[in-house]
Amino acid sequence: MKKVKCPQCGRQTLWDGNPYRPFCSERCKLLDLGHWLAEDYRIKVPPEGLEEIHALSREEEEGE
Ligand SMILES: [Zn+2]
Repeated sequence: MKKVKCPQCGRQTLWDGNPYRPFCSERCKLLDLGHWLAEDYRIKVPPEGLEEIHALSREEEEGE
């Protein structure tokens, strides 16, 4: 049977019939997903933060 190394914990795990592949368990799959979501979040936040700052400065200009 084909075995793969879990990318999360490095344990050898079966590929065939494994619903969490390439991970060994649901826990490792969720941990990895959480890691990717965190990376995605970090990348997306700065541009949105800048947009908010620009929007606020535009509102201040209109108010004066
Ligand atoms: Zn694992």
